[in-house]
Amino acid sequence: DAPLAPAAICTTCPYCGVGCGVKATPDGLGGATIAGDADHPANRGRLCSKGSALGETLGLGSRVLHPLKRNPAGSYDRIGWDEALDAVAVGLRAIAADHGPEAIAFYLSGQLLTEDYYVANKLAKGFIGTPHVDTNSRLCMSSTVAAQRRVLGSDTVPGAYEDFDSADLIVLVGSNTAWCHPILFRRMQDNRRERGARVVVLDPRLTATAADADMVLALKPGSDAALFAGLLVHLADRGLVDRTYVARHVAGFDEALANAREIAPDIAAVSVATGLKPAEIAAFYELWASTPHVVTAWSQGVNQSAQGTDKVAAILNCHLATGRIGRPGCGPFSLTGQPNAMGGREVGGLANMLAAHMGYGADEIDRVRRFWQAPHIARHEGLKAVQMLEAVAERGIRAMWVMATNPAVSLPNADKVRAALAGLDLFVVSENVLSNDTLAARPHYILPAASWGEKDGTVTNSERRISRQRAFLPLPSEVKPDWWIICEIARRLGFGAAFAYTGPHEIYAEHAALSAFENGGTRDFDIGAHAGLDKAAYDELRPVQWPVPAYRPQGTARLFSDGNFFGSGRRAQMRPLAAPKLAAEIDEAFPLLLNTGRVRDHWHTMTRTGLSPRLSAHIAEPSVHLHSSEITRFGLVERGFARLASAHGSAVLKVVADDGVSPGELFAPIHWSGETASDARIGALTQPLCDPFSGQPEMKATPVAVAPV
Ligand code: SF4
Repeated sequence: DAPLAPAAICTTCPYCGVGCGVKATPDGLGGATIAGDADHPANRGRLCSKGSALGETLGLGSRVLHPLKRNPAGSYDRIGWDEALDAVAVGLRAIAADHGPEAIAFYLSGQLLTEDYYVANKLAKGFIGTPHVDTNSRLCMSSTVAAQRRVLGSDTVPGAYEDFDSADLIVLVGSNTAWCHPILFRRMQDNRRERGARVVVLDPRLTATAADADMVLALKPGSDAALFAGLLVHLADRGLVDRTYVARHVAGFDEALANAREIAPDIAAVSVATGLKPAEIAAFYELWASTPHVVTAWSQGVNQSAQGTDKVAAILNCHLATGRIGRPGCGPFSLTGQPNAMGGREVGGLANMLAAHMGYGADEIDRVRRFWQAPHIARHEGLKAVQMLEAVAERGIRAMWVMATNPAVSLPNADKVRAALAGLDLFVVSENVLSNDTLAARPHYILPAASWGEKDGTVTNSERRISRQRAFLPLPSEVKPDWWIICEIARRLGFGAAFAYTGPHEIYAEHAALSAFENGGTRDFDIGAHAGLDKAAYDELRPVQWPVPAYRPQGTARLFSDGNFFGSGRRAQMRPLAAPKLAAEIDEAFPLLLNTGRVRDHWHTMTRTGLSPRLSAHIAEPSVHLHSSEITRFGLVERGFARLASAHGSAVLKVVADDGVSPGELFAPIHWSGETASDARIGALTQPLCDPFSGQPEMKATPVAVAPV
């Protein structure tokens, strides 16, 4: 008989928030053949360059395979799991006894699966009693979370990817979608080619996305809110506000419009604020106003700002004023950066959320406390990522457990972050690679965590679609899933009964039950249909968009179709905006503005994509892109090296001439670190100046100086 062909396992790509379905066929030797999953609604079989190369990134060469303990000489000794877990539990207990539970913090990641996130949050906020749990999603989309909660009354993306197929106008704000959400961008291109949809790109930099657009507005950094305030004024002056919809479903219209008139009274004022020509502004406004089916989508160019919440609110205001929300082919749409930033939001991974989209209202605290039977529930919001690391530096936080992320590269003021981490009394890292900048801060314990292909759980993509990420490789050596490590620590802290899960399916079912617990339709996040899911049903779970309440097990493609929001009186609340401005302006010492972002073929700090020769060939070195006139002005040499310096740190990067970057600005990719190329950590340059609502730091406009090396 011919041998049976190995079975393909349906899983999900571990990179961007598009959340593409992947079919992985293991080869029995630790590798796998990768293909797109034609049945997954997010990608319908397509994969981008990063997803296609996943098979090249498997292997154990760079992995941490055993628990490690730092010895007095600063190197690491291999220890057993029992010794590692006992020591971490003893250390946490001692810190809590000496300094109180709030001296302990967890820093999580959009790379974690929802089940890992859930138990980490439950342990910290419910049982240890510290509210200081935050995630690298704070750097990704927390401004959208804050704006959606303030305006829509809940952290809800209203629409679905299918809206990009049926929109007549797609406006992309601060998003290099072609490189950062490639498969969704291909759907937009299909719509453009097949239906004639128009694509408008608003971005200070001419990106690959701008190269394929019908209209490109290269606005000044930090001026997005002025542009959309002006659009609201234009809609009102043209009589295009849907007064009936606003009267029924929206509060705060008059205040928001009066505020918009102060910020952007006319196109001339918008031109001054944005640096755009009046004719281009007028053309954009007219196109938006005259196209009922418009999707306005945004990403980090909007979120990563000290005014990110207002920028998102400015976009939401325009959609609410015209009733262009909750209907097919139109709506505001946040493109989430990470594969499971959404799942983390759902379980309370953000410091200002408790669990299941519940915040810290007295009734919410009590509801979660009773559901978890939590002995020490946190009673106030915790410190957000940048504040949390400041508290580490000031010794208010003495113990930190970092899981699946590399804050010594990705947080702003990264040199200070690395120094602060090195001074912790107890520093624990759950990781799957042996070397990165956070590990260079010498944690006391390194716990070997499962990687993509070995992990088993769920993730949620940008359109609220929950998908299974399934294991197709065995756990190597002593590697363990994150949820198991967290539960073993909980057991050693005396909380074993509340963490006695036999697998991720039980964690997911509990998370689903909490989402529906005393819900009564008053909250957006409800996956109660999955509350009783057993292992077999969990293993078979098909991709589904939340809410998935008990009465709608097929999920929900679109919210707010009935005009019922989650704000007071079931209305949305339009918001006035602060006067748009940058958090820090250029001056004589720092005369250029540094913009940061991703490249097409790398992901975060390249611990996975850096393993693929094919992906590494696209852009091989850390670089700074600037206009050719600026190369001359600052005496630089193209393909030579330049040192960038800000008020916080410096980096040395290769000079690339790029006339898509405006004079006065620079662009540098975020991926490289001190481990992969000396002195190339962009986080060392960026500033810890944060949005007042979301706590998200400004990563797109840091004043810097540049000089030849
Ligand atoms: Fe993966 Fe995103 Fe590419 Fe899809 S678009 S294959 S989720 S990186």
